[in-house]
Amino acid sequence: MKNSLNRRDFLRAVGFGAAAFALPGCKGASRALKLGANSGKRPNILFIYSDDHAAPAVSAYHGFLSGVAKTPHIDRIANEGMLFENCFCTNSICTPSRACVLTGKYSNKNSILTLDDRFDGSQQTFPKLLRKAGYYTGLIGKWHLKSQPTGFDYYNVLPDQGVYFNPFMCESTMPWWNKEGKHPWDNLEAIERGENKNVKQYKGYVTDVITDLGMNFLKNRPMDKPFCLMLQHKATHDMWEYDKKHAHLYEDIDIPEPTTFFDDYKNRGQAIKRSTQKMDIARVLLNHETQSGQFDGLDKKLGKLPPRERKKQAYQYFIKAYLRCVASLDENIGRVLDFLDKTGLTKNTIVIYTSDQGVFLGEHGLFDKRFMYEESLRMPFLVRYPKEIKPHSVNKDIVLNIDYAETFLDYAGIPIPKDMQGESLRPLLKGKTSKDRRTAMYYRYWMNRPHFNDAAHYGIRTERYKLIFYYGLGLGTAGSLNKPAPPEWEFFDLKKDPNEMRNVYNDPAYTDVVKKLKLQLLALKKKYGDTDEKYPELMEVRKKYW
Ligand code: CA
Repeated sequence: MKNSLNRRDFLRAVGFGAAAFALPGCKGASRALKLGANSGKRPNILFIYSDDHAAPAVSAYHGFLSGVAKTPHIDRIANEGMLFENCFCTNSICTPSRACVLTGKYSNKNSILTLDDRFDGSQQTFPKLLRKAGYYTGLIGKWHLKSQPTGFDYYNVLPDQGVYFNPFMCESTMPWWNKEGKHPWDNLEAIERGENKNVKQYKGYVTDVITDLGMNFLKNRPMDKPFCLMLQHKATHDMWEYDKKHAHLYEDIDIPEPTTFFDDYKNRGQAIKRSTQKMDIARVLLNHETQSGQFDGLDKKLGKLPPRERKKQAYQYFIKAYLRCVASLDENIGRVLDFLDKTGLTKNTIVIYTSDQGVFLGEHGLFDKRFMYEESLRMPFLVRYPKEIKPHSVNKDIVLNIDYAETFLDYAGIPIPKDMQGESLRPLLKGKTSKDRRTAMYYRYWMNRPHFNDAAHYGIRTERYKLIFYYGLGLGTAGSLNKPAPPEWEFFDLKKDPNEMRNVYNDPAYTDVVKKLKLQLLALKKKYGDTDEKYPELMEVRKKYW
């Protein structure tokens, strides 16, 4: 990690008890009467976006955690609206997924291929188009795109990943903190003296703080305009630092392990075997860079155990911390939903709950994302809009994070720009479906081996099959290592093998299917303007391995 020493010092320095400022308050009680005012027919949009919150940790998805970890408030959105079972991320890491959401375009079009790219704020985004059409637009919480946010009437964002306790934030009225690529914590002394002009510190737990700021935005917005608020949480990203009030949650129980927890990768390619995002050697043991110190001493304590027991116990520490962060997220989403009810905003507000990607919660013995496997590919995606969506609806179509932008524009009555690459979900939300919709999706993870040794790959997923090509080249992308990984294919029949435990790429029974999928994959690459011809080294690899 860049500036790791500074960051560690910073984390310790801003721990509990640091000087803090109060949250800005509401302008007055009488104003509450007007809060439900809206601007006519166009719906408000409340986009609640968390970080690394996987579908099995949302109880409405009835996954392996739903018996022990309930999310009643997030589930409310599904119960009163629609749950999407197959919403997929086009590039499963934080920064790229955020850029896909904003632009409605694949990474190759919005230029955020990796975690290290800086978003070009001059490009077209859906908040800009909404704002131009008269929406009051806001962004609160995690941004993670490095450049100054554009297209928002108001923003208040965490620098970079932000911290869980007493977070610093940069408000739209303040000078942008990293115009020169610097972090606010590059000058710790100035922060401690309260002299840093780029950030302001808020006292409390980050999920509460972001929620309070979000509700202040709703209270103080101009009442004659529809609003679009992107309320973006830091939770449940690592290091999964939970609020003290949840410290005893799940204390007396064992959280179930996923069925693939002890996956031995026997019938798989090399990529997953080489990956270091394994629970048994995970950062829960090796890296406990936290403000709270919640994992301090864990490496010593677990290090003495035999490997199998160490893996089991590491998982319990990890998953309990994670689910405690989820508990806070859920309670805070409940606060926002209650606020919408009390102010009469529920009726004319589209509420979305989603996360920037999925994440492994011990499945295949992993704990991060990046791979095109189901757990990191799938995003929770729930939408409520009483005017158009029937309660308890479930959709199984393949939908993508690049569809969100067009959906919002569609609802706002704004013409959808031709260069956006998604498909509005409004017909699906109305309960209709169409033969013209996509039946296959294209995925690409661009970073080659800088994180967990995970190799660059792309692939196609249809309703039944998944074909992945690990091309294993950095291609000069930011952060990638100039250390090729051996190319290889993986192919899964999801109907027979939903947990992706058997790579059947070389099974003669699938020869024709694989051949057809390769053509379909190339067609999708062409459709999205992500062809390989501009990378001669990749074309060389293709010659040998296709
Ligand atoms: Ca993320």
